[in-house]
Amino acid sequence: MPSGTASRPANSDPAELAKFQALAARWWDPESEFKPLHRINPLRLDWIDELAPLAGRRVVDVGCGGGILAESMATRGADVLGIDLADRPLQVAELHALETGVPVRYRRVAVEALAAEMPESFDTVTCMEMLEHVPDPESVVRACTRLAKPGGWLFFSTINRNPKSFLFAIIGAEYLLRLLPRGTHEYAKFIRPSELVAAARRSGLETVRTMGLTYNPLNDTYRLDPHDITVNYAIAARKPA
Ligand code: SAH
Repeated sequence: MPSGTASRPANSDPAELAKFQALAARWWDPESEFKPLHRINPLRLDWIDELAPLAGRRVVDVGCGGGILAESMATRGADVLGIDLADRPLQVAELHALETGVPVRYRRVAVEALAAEMPESFDTVTCMEMLEHVPDPESVVRACTRLAKPGGWLFFSTINRNPKSFLFAIIGAEYLLRLLPRGTHEYAKFIRPSELVAAARRSGLETVRTMGLTYNPLNDTYRLDPHDITVNYAIAARKPA
């Protein structure tokens, strides 16, 4: 069970966690601040499931929040553990899983601590929209790598860092379209694909795919686009067997 009083692990930012604590109650409202996560979830879920079929796999979802991705992966037949450091989103995730009857486990634990506790335990590690909220994202990549079994799959998503992503992800999403609350994202914490791929390589991973995720405000549509990783994107990587 999550506990709100545990001491703060080193690689976390209390201001970042507080943002998600404050909004937790609305996590599963598809018209809330989490609308973009609800909208992109079927796209990323299918992408993961195609590359690394989920049924019967042991999966850890790092920075799972209220469990949108974690629960959907469990619905596809994966044995899912969701971890986060914000206790309120985890409580919401647990309640939602109780309501839907989908078996998912949640824990409040730092990814580095879980990696020390159960290395090489998971077929698939997912870490979506979380790296841009932590002080040391490479430490998260390393810990995720450690959690994966040899031959396991890892999926990371975040936001690119360039003038276009500043315009789209911050000005557009937070100020013009108001898809996200102001202050959700900090430009300096965005991560270029080359930086993420390099961090993955230093951790011993091989990046096998990069995938862009685009939003078109004119028709309010999200799409996966392997040719446009200029703003939101993900990588799929493998740990050598
Ligand atoms: N991965 C989920 C939620 C993304 S929101 C999804 O894509 O649907 C970002 C999440 O990262 C929040 O739940 C926040 O609490 C979590 N987070 C931020 N810093 C963290 C850290 N250092 N360790 C674990 N989780 C963290």
